Order: sequence, then structure tokens, then C-alpha cells
Amino acid sequence: MDTPRTLQAAIAQFSDPQRAFEAAVRFRWLGGEVTCPRCGKAKHSFIKTRRIWFCYVCKKQFTVKVGTIMEDSPLGLDKWMIALWMLANCKNGISSYELAKAIGVRQNSAWFMLHRIREAMKNKSWFKLGDPDGGAVEADETYIGGKAVNMHKSHKLKLQQIRGEERRGDVYLGKTAVQGILDRDLRQIRCKVIPNVKRETLQGEILKQVRYGSKVYTDSAIGYDLLHNRFVHECVNHAERYVNGQVHTNGLENFWSLFKRNLRGTYVSVEPFHLDRYLDEQVFRFNNRATKDNPLNDSDRFILAMSQVAGRRLTYAQLTGKQVDSLHHSAAGTGQEEPF
Ligand SMILES: [Zn+2]
Repeated sequence: MDTPRTLQAAIAQFSDPQRAFEAAVRFRWLGGEVTCPRCGKAKHSFIKTRRIWFCYVCKKQFTVKVGTIMEDSPLGLDKWMIALWMLANCKNGISSYELAKAIGVRQNSAWFMLHRIREAMKNKSWFKLGDPDGGAVEADETYIGGKAVNMHKSHKLKLQQIRGEERRGDVYLGKTAVQGILDRDLRQIRCKVIPNVKRETLQGEILKQVRYGSKVYTDSAIGYDLLHNRFVHECVNHAERYVNGQVHTNGLENFWSLFKRNLRGTYVSVEPFHLDRYLDEQVFRFNNRATKDNPLNDSDRFILAMSQVAGRRLTYAQLTGKQVDSLHHSAAGTGQEEPF
């Protein structure tokens, strides 16, 4: 069976339940051997009429969805795979409203699906970026959300008291800090929400993610002033910006502007609690976009995302913060979250 090359071909292929099932099996178990998600063994029989397996070791049945982001979902594989295709390939992301209309589900089902797909898109490779003999790594942080800049001073102070936030300068009030590290040679980004912009936090991530001895460029020395112990650290000197054209963080700045544009344009309102997942989504598309050396296409990105659905689960309770700490908002998933 051919893997579809376009969204149209994917819709045609996956609308047939048997073909959708075969495709899902093929992408989930890329090696070709179906193994039980509970015990990992391949001792089972297949009940063709019901498209389920019976594991002789566990004495239990399993479907292609068990142990994946799709587990317990009443929605069909056709809808799941089209949603995956769209999120993996739409450069500006896709909102739960758009997806709901496209595949015919309720908006909050689409919202939940998209978050589970982002879980599958999460980067799980732990190799270090950088190379002591190679090109540079950029590190930069940005702030997302909050409209404190335009807020009246008294309102700002009041909000600050209510939230008990640390004052880091008016501009950052109510915003979420995000740090990114970009390997220019590999064209790979790692990104995450950080609790603060203290030196230990900023430098800690670089120590964890970048090989010692690599060139690291930052746009300011503040917070990064001890990097020279382990790395070749240079920072953008705004006064001499054009003297050394290599020392800049433009790669990350472009990434931030695309990310912020998508948050404003496509997603409109995102809670800080969920921000990491939107970052995972953007990083997935960035790290897997077509380059001269690596000409990936829509089909490749879809298969990659599908191959990562197993071993990752996200329950509604986890997603809405009921079982974890409760930064959540009671309006989660209704599209009425705190505006970003
Ligand atoms: Zn088993």
C-alpha cells in the first residue's frame, strides 16, 4: 500500500476503515512486527473481524490504539490520522475550531485531540547539540503573553499584588519565559518554558543540551556570563553588531516571531500551563522541515508523528490539570482561556 502524498489522498485512503487500520498498524509498528503494548511480546492471535489482537502472555486483548495517544478515544482512526496529518504539516498550526469543522467533531474533542497529538510530536532525542569543531549554537529567551506593556501603572501594580509575582521590570509582568537553543549546522531547536531567567536556569539548560567546547552565541551577556568556562561564548555586541556577522541569534528570533504569530493568529488564546505543548508542535515542524540535505515532505512528517504515538498518553485529567498542579483554568478547552 502506498503512503498518501497529499492531504486529499490521505482522506481518500483513511476513509476506508480497513485501509486506515492497515496504515495505522504499519506506522505504529515501524519494524513490521506487532507487539503487545503491555508486555512487549509478539505472542498473540489476531481476530480479523474485530481488528484486535489477543495476547497469550497477558491474556488480554489489545487494539492498535492501546498504549498510544489515541487510547480510549471513541473517534475513528480516519479522524485521528487526518488530524495528525494537518497538525504535522500546517505551517501556522490548526485551531480546534478549524479541525472540528474539517473532520466533523465537537470543538472540545478537537482541542483534546490536538493536545494529544502535540504529545506525540514532543522531541524525545537526547543527543547533545553543538560540536567543538562545528558551527555555532544560538541561545536566546523570549517572553510570551501578557499585555502588561499597555496596562495602566496602578492596574499593573494591583495585578502584581494579586498574582504575587516577582517584579522583573514592567515589560515582563504576567509573561511566561521561554528559552530556545538552536544548532545552526543540524538545524535543530530545543525549546522549553522556564520558571525564571536567573543565571542558573539559563546556563543550566545550555550545560545540559550543548556539547562542551562548542561555540555559543547569545544576544546579551547577562545571565550567560559564566559560559566561557565550558564553551566558546560570544554575545551580540550591539555597538559592533556588524563587525562580526556570525555572532547573532537571528535564527531563534525568526523562530520566536513565527511562534508568536501562530499564537496570535491561529490559537488566539493559550494558557501558560499549555504553552510547552504549543512549543513542542512548532519545534516538531521546524526540526522536520525540508532542507537541501534532508528533503522531507508532508508524508514523511505524518509518518514520523504516527511512529511516535505509542508509549505516550495524555488523559483529560492530566491535560486540564486536575491531577497535576493546578495552574489550570476552569475554562480550559472552551476557547475562553486567558488571552495570550
Ligand atoms: Zn501482552
